[in-house]
Amino acid sequence: MSREDTLVIHEIYASIQGESSFAGLPCTFIRTTGCNLRCVWCDTPQAFYGGTRKARGDVLREALALRTAVVEVTGGEPLLQPAVLPLLRELCDAGRTVLLETSGEADVARVDPRVHKIMDLKAPASGESHRNRWSNLEHIGAGDEIKFVLADRGDYEFMRDVVRERDLPRRTPHLLASTVFGALAPKDLVRWVLDDGLPVRVQLQMHKYVWPPDARGV
Ligand code: SF4
Repeated sequence: MSREDTLVIHEIYASIQGESSFAGLPCTFIRTTGCNLRCVWCDTPQAFYGGTRKARGDVLREALALRTAVVEVTGGEPLLQPAVLPLLRELCDAGRTVLLETSGEADVARVDPRVHKIMDLKAPASGESHRNRWSNLEHIGAGDEIKFVLADRGDYEFMRDVVRERDLPRRTPHLLASTVFGALAPKDLVRWVLDDGLPVRVQLQMHKYVWPPDARGV
């Protein structure tokens, strides 16, 4: 089988979508193994290694069998695996609303346009902001979302400047601002956003309030 026929998968499970403008909706998650970044606050380091190599058709069948209208492909970094592009296409063909969580470093140019890309732009405290692939912004449209995960005031100012200087609201109305759990108080972020009149959606990671902190597969 070719590299387009198989994927290394960490887990496939149904839960609620915890973030983005789809937050709260039942969602099937396909979590791929492997990431080429190492954000200091990464909350899925368990997906860096291991996993099970599966035929793409089996991954598709397993995900569709969970029967949610929304399916998200996440990681790790899904776009490191060539089979993710055809898998995304097949999920769309099956009538699902398809989300792709991606780091902002991987090239999103060839992602099926029906997919809602939820793309990070890494802020300085992640340790990976030098990896942002700014040309990806050319491929972000109104159905896509840009996410900032913020650990401190410096990260907030990075987001504020990027939103303004790169005119992100012109590309998409879905600009997401999250806090690193336990590092930045959401009330501080809300205050800063209000003070600056910034057109972002402050979001809390809903699944972390629903499930225990050490839960996997949620
Ligand atoms: S890009 Fe995502 S999976 Fe990779 S290290 Fe950063 S937070 Fe973790």
